[in-house]
Amino acid sequence: MTTLMPTPRHYSAARLFTGPHSSVENKLAYPMEAYQRTPRRTVSCAGVGLHSGKDVHLTIKPAPPNSGIRFIRADLGGRSVAAHMDKVVNTTLATTLAEGDCLVSTTEHLLAALRGCGIDNADIELDGPEVPIMDGSAAPFCDLLRQAGCRRQNASRIALRITQPIHHEENGKRLAVFPFAGFTVFEEIVFDDDIIQRQIFSSALRGDNFLEHIAPARTFGRAEDVEMLWARGLALGGTLDNVVTIHWNRKSVLNEGGLRFPNEFVRHKALDLIGDLTLLGFPLLARVHAFKAGHGQHLGLMRAIVASPDCWEWVRLSPDGNFKRVEAVAM
Ligand SMILES: [Zn+2]
Repeated sequence: MTTLMPTPRHYSAARLFTGPHSSVENKLAYPMEAYQRTPRRTVSCAGVGLHSGKDVHLTIKPAPPNSGIRFIRADLGGRSVAAHMDKVVNTTLATTLAEGDCLVSTTEHLLAALRGCGIDNADIELDGPEVPIMDGSAAPFCDLLRQAGCRRQNASRIALRITQPIHHEENGKRLAVFPFAGFTVFEEIVFDDDIIQRQIFSSALRGDNFLEHIAPARTFGRAEDVEMLWARGLALGGTLDNVVTIHWNRKSVLNEGGLRFPNEFVRHKALDLIGDLTLLGFPLLARVHAFKAGHGQHLGLMRAIVASPDCWEWVRLSPDGNFKRVEAVAM
C-alpha cells in the first residue's frame, strides 16, 4: 500500500475505503458542506493582466466531481494546467502555474474566490497567460460565481485534516498549521511604512466571512516600487483602479477612495494565503498562522505538509457535521 500525495487526480470513489479508525467519528467545529460543488452555469468576464498589461477573457465552467480546478489556455489549443502545488513554477510577485508551455500566472485571487465560495471543481478557460487582475481583490470573482450559482455534486468532500502542528520558516518569515476541526487563518504582517506598521487579522472561513471581510481586500504596492516594476516591464496593467498604491510619504495611499478596511493590507495577505493553499488540492481542516509570509513561503508550507504525512490525515465530511478518517491507497 502506498499513500498518495494529496492531489484530486489521485483518488476516486473506488480508491477510497474507510480505514482502521473508521469507528471514530469526530465533530466539525461548525457546519461545512459535505459534498463537492461546481458552478451551476458557465460565466465569463474580461480584464487586464496585472503584469502583462494585456486584455484577457476568462470563463468559469462546471467540471465533474474529483476533477479539481484546472486552467485551460484557449489560445494554446486548449492545453491545460492543474491548480496544484506541483505545477508552481514561480512565486515572485504572484503564483504562476505551468505544464510545459501552458503557463498561467496571478492565479491566487481567483483560487481564493473559488475556495471562499466553496467550489471544488471548475474549468477556468483563458485566452492569455495571466488571470485578469479585476479590481485587485477577489470580490469580482465572487460576484461572478454568485451569478453562476452552485451545484452540489454526488461526491463527498474529502479534506486534509492536520493532526499535529507543522511549521515552516524562511528568513524570519513563518507559517504554521495546527489541528482544528474547521478552517481559520491568523495573519500578521510588519512593514516599516507608517500606514501599515504591524497589522493582525484573523477569521474562520465560515458563513459570509470570506465575502465580507477578506474578498474585497485589494493587492497593494509602494508607488516607487510600482515605478520600478514598470521600468522592468512588470505590473504594466497596474493602475490605481487595481492596486492600493502607498504614497511616497508612506503615510497614505494614492487611491482616491482610500482603503476599504483600515487593515486592508493584512486582509489581502490572508486572501493570498487562502488562494495559494487551494493548490493542496483538498480543503484544509486546520488553524493556519502566517507571519510576514508571501507566495514562496505558502508553497514552502504546502511542501512541509506533504513531507509530514504523520501529521495529517484525509477525512470525509458527512452531512450530519461529522468527519471520518479515510485512507487513499494505490489500486
Ligand atoms: Zn494578492
